[in-house]
Amino acid sequence: MYHFKNKLQSSPARNLSPINQFVSPYEECGVFGACGTLDAAAHTALGLHALQHRGQEAAGIVSCETNSDRSLSNLHHHHAIGKVGDNFGDGVIIAKLRGFSAIGHNRYSTTGGSVNAANIQPLIAELSFGALALAHNGNLTNAAIIRKKLISEGSIFRTTMDTEVVIHLMARSGKNNIKDALIEALKKIEGGYSLIVLDKDYLIGARDPYGIRPLMLGRLGDAYFLASETCAFDIIGAQHVRDIAPGEIIIIDKKKVHEQKPKKEATESLFPFPKVNPRFCIFEFVYFSRPDSQIENKDVYAVRKRMGAELSRENPIEADIVIPVPDSGVASALGYAEEAKCQFELGIIRNHYVGRTFIEPTDQIRNLGVKLKHNANRSVIEGKRVVLVDDSIVRGTTSKKIVAMVRDAGAKEVHMRIASPATTNACFYGIDTPSTEKLLASHMTTEEICKFIGADSLAYLSVDSLYRAVGEAKRNNEIPQYCDACFTGDYAVELKDKNAGLVNKGYDC
Ligand code: 5GP
Ligand code: MG
Repeated sequence: MYHFKNKLQSSPARNLSPINQFVSPYEECGVFGACGTLDAAAHTALGLHALQHRGQEAAGIVSCETNSDRSLSNLHHHHAIGKVGDNFGDGVIIAKLRGFSAIGHNRYSTTGGSVNAANIQPLIAELSFGALALAHNGNLTNAAIIRKKLISEGSIFRTTMDTEVVIHLMARSGKNNIKDALIEALKKIEGGYSLIVLDKDYLIGARDPYGIRPLMLGRLGDAYFLASETCAFDIIGAQHVRDIAPGEIIIIDKKKVHEQKPKKEATESLFPFPKVNPRFCIFEFVYFSRPDSQIENKDVYAVRKRMGAELSRENPIEADIVIPVPDSGVASALGYAEEAKCQFELGIIRNHYVGRTFIEPTDQIRNLGVKLKHNANRSVIEGKRVVLVDDSIVRGTTSKKIVAMVRDAGAKEVHMRIASPATTNACFYGIDTPSTEKLLASHMTTEEICKFIGADSLAYLSVDSLYRAVGEAKRNNEIPQYCDACFTGDYAVELKDKNAGLVNKGYDC
């Protein structure tokens, strides 16, 4: 343990030069857009509230008035550190965000230190063809290279986010409208992104060619919505129309929305990128998305239950009760218990008034966070052989604490079962995993991890079983159906910034 900590503290990544400190590789976020409703900002606040699990560090909403000019004063905005409900629940702020269209963003914690207010999205800028706002979920893999070049040519950046390069590339595209400028910019960037862009005329959504991050289209009456997940449509009573396709740019034309002519389609879809085989992030199914969301027309909840069932088939163990690590392990533990015909019990109770453990900025506070967050339910545990089910082990902090807690509560045996393969590699496309060397499974065998967390046995789901749970026969190793780099190290998009030594996941995690 001492050795492990020492290693983290001496990580060379902490000594990055200022240019290398441009990094936002921890950008799992939520985005939402509304067009064609008087209550655009209120809908956006509600949508962001439903997407709060995707980011709790900060939130922002930008609204747009259709009938005014193209300058920045056409955009109304409010950006705040903290949760949506704490900052946008107030009718006064929503009333200031006038207009029939709005976009919003929930920012995930970048950990380590205070929030840089400039990094709260949506970003706003005035370009030659007018003012726009832009919100991004994901992480770009060549933004540092582009940024370095633009800065050397005189560009002025005001955030440390990869997202800002998109605006600069649009500004320098030489195009005189938002659609063409965005396409030009997107042709130059690589990585995982779901973007929402708003100006006087259009609400635009875009997904990267591999479709790594999710983006959905919704409708309510004549109004259109874009959101990271379908749960954001449920909260406002909107219907989920479809997933935006990988590589698709969907343009919602405000004028056509306002005309409300029956049957006149207000959306247009462009596919400007060379076609590649899509690779949606499989970790969205494992952990990130809400279980009541649908992605690729699959219920996240049902997929997670299947992960649990596969886990039980693959790694059976004699036990008396199955206990989920709440909340992330609940659906898979249900699937596990059903398949194993073993009693399911809420043996760990979660305090919902504590944020996600991962949000805590330091290892020390994270340790404390786990204690604050979970408590063993002694009455169901005492004297029992327990199977604990969680979605993943990252640093092992949660598992170690929970196993000890369950033992303290009198368990006879504690068997840990993880409803995904071992997390061996950092994500560079927008999931908040730490740098590879901080991932337990990158440098420990399953046996060593089992010892580290203090369990009697430990088993993970195999990659093929995970694929079965999402509805595939198995992983196609020639053309993988999903991005599973965190489990396989097979990165869908080349890591150009990393290979150029410009970003390092160890920086502020
Ligand atoms: P550990 O304690 O091993 O570092 O983290 C494992 C726990 O963190 C699991 O309970 C899992 O639900 C959660 N987790 C896994 N991946 C992520 C992530 O990307 N972000 C956050 N916030 N939590 C995660
Ligand atoms: Mg968890």
